[in-house]
Amino acid sequence: MSRSKTLFEKAQKHIPGGVNSPVRAFRGVGGTPIFFKKASGSKVYDEDDRSYIDYVGSWGPMILGHNHPSIIEAVHQQVDLGLSFGAPTAIEISMADAVCELIPSMDLVRMVNSGTEATMSAIRLARGYTGRDKILKFEGCYHGHSDSLLVKAGSGALTLGVPNSPGVPADFAKHTLTVTFNDLESVRAAFEESGSEIACIIVEPVAGNMNCVPPKPGFLEGLREICDQYGAVLIFDEVMTGFRVALGGAQEFYNIKPDLTTLGKVIGGGMPVGAFGGKREIMEQIAPLGPVYQAGTLSGNPVAMTAGLAAMKEIAKPDFHKNLTVKLTRLLEGLKERAAAAGIPLVTNQAGAAMFGMYFTDQEQVTSFAEVMACDNDRFNKFFHAMLEEGVYLAPSSFEAGFISSAHTDEDIDFTLQAAEKAFARIA
Ligand code: PMP
Repeated sequence: MSRSKTLFEKAQKHIPGGVNSPVRAFRGVGGTPIFFKKASGSKVYDEDDRSYIDYVGSWGPMILGHNHPSIIEAVHQQVDLGLSFGAPTAIEISMADAVCELIPSMDLVRMVNSGTEATMSAIRLARGYTGRDKILKFEGCYHGHSDSLLVKAGSGALTLGVPNSPGVPADFAKHTLTVTFNDLESVRAAFEESGSEIACIIVEPVAGNMNCVPPKPGFLEGLREICDQYGAVLIFDEVMTGFRVALGGAQEFYNIKPDLTTLGKVIGGGMPVGAFGGKREIMEQIAPLGPVYQAGTLSGNPVAMTAGLAAMKEIAKPDFHKNLTVKLTRLLEGLKERAAAAGIPLVTNQAGAAMFGMYFTDQEQVTSFAEVMACDNDRFNKFFHAMLEEGVYLAPSSFEAGFISSAHTDEDIDFTLQAAEKAFARIA
């Protein structure tokens, strides 16, 4: 029996489902989750010492690959100085300055500990600022698991088939309006009906929790216009896209300025970090400047800030994102060629530099939640396991985006394409 199987059995004794976050349990793809013990560069190593080329990257943070020497060294130095003070530190200033410089729509930024906290706090702020209760989100977009946002969500909530979780009071959920991603008409209709009650639109500018669906031309522009027309706050949830799709996030790539932005993943360099920020006038409503309460014992944690700041310095180097784009394009073109040769219909989506989607479908393109749901899940699951056997680790769900890192070499891409060729032959 593999160590992962043994550990998974043991894990279930005291951990619900053996995991600390549901998608890790492989419920969507079936089989036993792989237990990892170490990682380096583009590779992760399991408890049986097998290595895999990693396209999950800890679900996004690892844009530099695992254990990047600059991050590890900076963290080691900080650890010797202290793990947490619960008081202001100089490194928090460096972090805030770096974030606001890279993302010009952000005048002020508050650090938190996860993407969930970032979006939850941004929603409260938008409600406090506008004095309105309703929020508008998109079906298949995931913004963490806070009550207001766990309505028709993506990611694990899709995999597990529990888009509306028990435990979210109907009285909360009724304030969350859900419309269709890439369909401005559905947004307009919601605003025509309740525009004066809607505090904000929250959107993943590239939807990454229903696999990877980029915005259609004009979609994000339309959201900006509608928010301006109705006095609602536009929140870009860039937890996944921030510093990844482009250095300045999806907002730079598509050239749209949101009012508030939420960040996570890359900003922590692998440590638990999130952030929200935006226009000064709105952010000044946050305590202690304003009446909207938000706080955190470990927020701005010095070790986490150090890791994140080291990551940001690396990704800001010239051509970092351009090189990732070239690499990703080669990977996706190679996958399409090999799928076609095996007679398997495959659609790929690429958003900016380092985020991609793959769909087993004979539809010409995948641009909406309905089109995602019409793809061949069973085939993806078989492909996932075939790739795993070949030594390639993809996200264990057909609803998750894939990620590459600067540590992925040309040899890694070649290895992946050879693996895919064998996998396509097996599932044809
Ligand atoms: N927003 C988006 C767009 C995400 O992809 C995620 C997590 N995948 C979150 C928010 C929640 O972040 P966390 O898991 O750190 O709470």
